[in-house]
Order: sequence, then structure tokens, then C-alpha cells
Amino acid sequence: MARVAVVTGGTRGIGEAISVALKNAGYKVAANYAGNDERAKAFEARTGIKVYKWDVSTLEECAAGVKKIESELGPIEVIVNNAGITRDGTMKKMARQAWDEVLDTNLGGCFNMCKAGWEGMLARGFGRIVNIGSINGQAGQYGQVNYAAAKSGIHGFTKALGQEGAAKGITVNAIAPGYIDTDMVAAVPPDVLAKIVARIPVGRLGKADEIARGVLFLVADEGGFITGSTMSINGGQHMY
Ligand code: NDP
Repeated sequence: MARVAVVTGGTRGIGEAISVALKNAGYKVAANYAGNDERAKAFEARTGIKVYKWDVSTLEECAAGVKKIESELGPIEVIVNNAGITRDGTMKKMARQAWDEVLDTNLGGCFNMCKAGWEGMLARGFGRIVNIGSINGQAGQYGQVNYAAAKSGIHGFTKALGQEGAAKGITVNAIAPGYIDTDMVAAVPPDVLAKIVARIPVGRLGKADEIARGVLFLVADEGGFITGSTMSINGGQHMY
């Protein structure tokens, strides 16, 4: 039986590539998104993957979303926490709201989705969770105290939950992408982006498909001995 996978923020950018790669690998995929109906509908028509709209920063919406997917597709065995936002600004300019929104979506979203899916995974004795962190959670980034804190938190969250799932057949891992060519990076001013690319040893931005390959590796049934780890996919920009 095909395993059911949910990808948050799964309708565009890195999430789209993950949803499509999982589908092509034989998973039954549900792609969540927040509000961009136009892109979600186009994605659904193009890929045949069902889309589900809710805000991952709200626990109740995550619980309802998981329930709906499970009633339509079956028990969720793979969760990819990919939904993320940026609200950049230096400490001097950053409003508390920008802190809360980024923490609630990027890090709170991981908690909410894992909370909603965890008991089912425990009951079935199998689960694969992949949380999408960031190079900027590992190394920090000017103007991103909110985003760096949230992404860094994801890496700690992954290690802690990995310990809880280890003896129960549930693995929890993270991927820390470097700069990937998506809408999020397109929002970076071109002069700043050129300086970033100059610091990537591979000499280019990454592709969303290159992150999706990592997800496929981590969620495979054969991946039962890999848990609590962070896979860095960043063109050699940050090694440690
Ligand atoms: P995009 O901005 O291209 O896409 C973001 C996706 O997340 C969209 O599908 C969006 O939905 C969804 N989303 C945003 N907020 C919510 C929410 N509250 N609830 C549900 N869905 C939400 O992002 P990327 O593809 O670039 O990034 C994907 C992940 O990878 C993020 O976590 C990001 O932080 C991380 N990352 C990205 C890097 C990059 O270089 N691009 C580098 C390192 C990490 P909608 O379409 O409805 O807006």
C-alpha cells in the first residue's frame, strides 16, 4: 500500500519539488498551502496532487487538516514540515509581530503538525518526519534574528523529537538548505543575491529538486537508522 505523505507549503518552491518527487516515488501526497489559491490550483491541475488549505501556525487548523487528509487518503505516515516565511529586518527595525509570525509559522508549524500526526504514528509504529531548516539557522544571517532563531530551533526540535520516536519506528530528521532558486530567494535584492552566490563554492543557487532528493532519502522505509540528523544541502557554503 502506498504510504500517505503530507507536505506543508507543498504547492510551490521547494515544497512543490518535494510533493512531486514523493508522488513520482509512489507516495499518496497531500500538499498544504496557506493562501495563494491561484498557485495551488495551477499546481493541482499540473500534478494531480490534492491541495489542502490551512495555516500551519494554528494547532487547531493542523489537527483538522490532518483529520481531513486521513479521511480522504488514509493514515499519514510521512510529514514534511516545509512551510516557511521570512519577515526580515534588523533588530532596530524589527517589530515584535515579525518575530511572532516567523516563529509561529516556521517553528510553531513543526510542533503543530507533529502534534497532530504523532499519536497515529505511535499507534502504527511507523513514521517519517522531515523538517526543513536553513543554512541561516546554522550560521545566522544579518537582518534575520527571527528566521535564524526559528530555523535553529527546528534543528533542536528535530534532535529532541528524534529521541522520542527512535524506539517507536518514527524517525525525525532535518534538512538545512542553502540558497535555493525559489520565490523566497527571488525577493532578495539582486545586489545582495550576487554577493551570496559569490560565496557558494559550487558557484550557483541550488535547485528545489536537489532538496527533494534529500527528503526522499530520509523518508525511505530503509532509513530507520537515520534519526535526529540534519542534512546540509548548500553547495558547500557552510560546512561544520
Ligand atoms: P516559498 O516562499 O517559495 O513557498 C512557501 C510555501 O509555504 C508556500 O506554499 C506557502 O503557501 C507556504 N506557507 C507559508 N506560510 C504558511 C502557513 N502559515 N501555513 C501553510 N503554508 C504556508 O518558499 P521556499 O520554497 O523558498 O521555502 C520552503 C522552505 O525552505 C521554507 O521553510 C524556507 O524557510 C526553507 N528554506 C528556503 C531556502 C531558499 O533558499 N529558498 C533556503 C533555506 C531554507 P502559499 O503558496 O499559500 O503562500
